[in-house]
Amino acid sequence: MIENGEFDFENRIVAPQVIAQDDDIDYSLRPKTLSEYIGQDKVKENMQIYIEAAKKRGEPLDHVLLYGPPGLGKTTLSAIIAHEMGVNIRVTSGPAIEKPGDLAALLTNLQNGDVLFIDEIHRLSRSIEEVLYPALEDFAIDIIIGKGPAARSIRFDLPRFTLIGATTRSGQLSAPLRDRFGVIQRLELYSADDLAEIISRSAVILGVAIDKDGAYELASRSRGTPRIANRFLKRVRDYADVMGDGRITRDIAKIALDRMEVDDLGLDSLDKRMLLTIINGYGGGPVGLDTLASAIGEEAVTLEDVCEPFLMQLGFLARTPRGRCATDLAYKHLGIARPNRPEDGQTSLL
Ligand code: ADP
Repeated sequence: MIENGEFDFENRIVAPQVIAQDDDIDYSLRPKTLSEYIGQDKVKENMQIYIEAAKKRGEPLDHVLLYGPPGLGKTTLSAIIAHEMGVNIRVTSGPAIEKPGDLAALLTNLQNGDVLFIDEIHRLSRSIEEVLYPALEDFAIDIIIGKGPAARSIRFDLPRFTLIGATTRSGQLSAPLRDRFGVIQRLELYSADDLAEIISRSAVILGVAIDKDGAYELASRSRGTPRIANRFLKRVRDYADVMGDGRITRDIAKIALDRMEVDDLGLDSLDKRMLLTIINGYGGGPVGLDTLASAIGEEAVTLEDVCEPFLMQLGFLARTPRGRCATDLAYKHLGIARPNRPEDGQTSLL
């Protein structure tokens, strides 16, 4: 995992984003209908109602914004919504739409009711957003023809379509864009029970034998993220083939994930390096993110995006105005005794 002293992010086994070794498993394991989509009950119930109501009225679905960490099923859910509505889906992403003309080409090729899915919608440029507003509100785009004083704006009507935007950072979405979504749904990290069900379903599709305990062991180390759960399944299958009779049991899952340096809660060596640096280098914190990043030799934004959300969710890391702190739980998990510090008493009084 660590090459030339640097962490190999491209192949980080607990990365929630797609990594090189994922091949096309993401695609083949995607559920196609709402009933196959495991967990996220609140979102599913809401979407079911909106879809049924739109179908009853014979209208396209309102524009939908899905937000939440990577790998939780935003792309999958969008394809399901289109499927349930009985319409086509066109998939693109914020950074892929470079010029207003790119967006105009996408929009004019849609048919009535179609879904346009824009992943990482927070990365759309302002000039593209400007084109999108009338498209979302009036189903029309204004195209400028000619240059200089002779330039004219011509309005083109568009089919009535549904935009589904996905983002990991809803806070970075501009307010006017956010306001144009009629439906806003937040996806949550999955419970270990849901992940075990996802793993068992994927195992059937991939033809992998796994028992209940094996599925649960993988699930509980998957950081609440189906993409990581599916990746573990695929990798641990190799261990089961070589070390056992091909069946993934709890023991095989444990051995395999330990070897991949994923601990029983799903922490990997980078997460641990971050916590240990705070504990050993800065007395448990607080330490500023930039200082921490240079001590570890990683970019601050990487630590912020890749490690922090999960460490905070576990309650191992606290963000304070003065910097990051390791919590008692983190000390306990790493088996390190926390030294008594006089200021601790003071902090808890505040
Ligand atoms: P995102 O767009 O949020 O990054 P994806 O939709 O690409 O996530 O999902 C990643 C993978 O996780 C997909 O391949 C899919 O197989 C699996 N997955 C996600 N959500 C679910 C779910 N609710 N049930 C079953 N599998 C899921």
